[in-house]
Amino acid sequence: MFKSVVVFIGPPGVGKGTQASLLADSFSIPKFATGDLLREALKNKTPLGVEAKNYMDSGKLVPDQLVLNLIKGKISALDKETGFILDGFPRTLSQAQGLDEILLTLCHNVSLAIEFSMDEEERIARLTGRRLCPNCQRTYHILFAPPKKDSLCDYCSVQLVQRADDNEEVIRKRSAVYWETTEPLLNYYRQKNILKVVDASSSIENVFSRIKHIFQELN
Ligand code: ADP
Ligand code: ADP
Ligand code: ZN
Repeated sequence: MFKSVVVFIGPPGVGKGTQASLLADSFSIPKFATGDLLREALKNKTPLGVEAKNYMDSGKLVPDQLVLNLIKGKISALDKETGFILDGFPRTLSQAQGLDEILLTLCHNVSLAIEFSMDEEERIARLTGRRLCPNCQRTYHILFAPPKKDSLCDYCSVQLVQRADDNEEVIRKRSAVYWETTEPLLNYYRQKNILKVVDASSSIENVFSRIKHIFQELN
């Protein structure tokens, strides 16, 4: 049984979501991406979605307490023995501490934090070409990971869309928020000796094989 709790940290567009999906599928473990969960809430116009909308549209972080409640609900619903992957969470020190508190009550702790690292220019190219399936949330890229059929999801045959926040202005804001607020959080995990850095600039397959290797050492 996979019992580890793994967090993925890195600036927007670095490939966290892509790798989280591959890993979740190949190890049959749950993954939670706060960005996906918030977009789902927004689409369904839930109170959380309504509250989160302005923050997301402008590339700011949604308040810690909202995101912590969201994640707490997901983790509490799991079997105690089940490990999971967190993509895009935590993003602040207060979220990291909140996560530790939630895990403590479940006799769990964060086993591994993976930092995705890569060159800025290439990362922006990944974001501007990103496309999303609005049905299953799978991610594509117009050049680097195109769907089999022109602009349709391989699994749902639904028309792919571009995220509202994947425009130049909001990308710049999200990146700035990452370097100011989230990147310093890496120290928290470095001090616990559970941080691994992955070079995210190579192909999807190469990055995946590196991450898989790190995982297999854990379990
Ligand atoms: P990316 O995949 O580009 O890194 P996400 O899909 O993770 O972006 O996040 C999109 C938006 O959702 C963020 O700009 C932010 O407004 C909100 N968000 C997602 N995760 C968090 C979080 N852990 N804390 C606060 N806000 C978040
Ligand atoms: P994040 O979740 O970190 O914001 P994504 O996983 O959504 O990043 O990836 C951003 C874009 O880059 C997507 O369009 C995805 O298809 C593409 N992508 C992801 N990993 C790679 C890679 N190793 N090489 C080229 N393109 C990639
Ligand atoms: Zn789909």
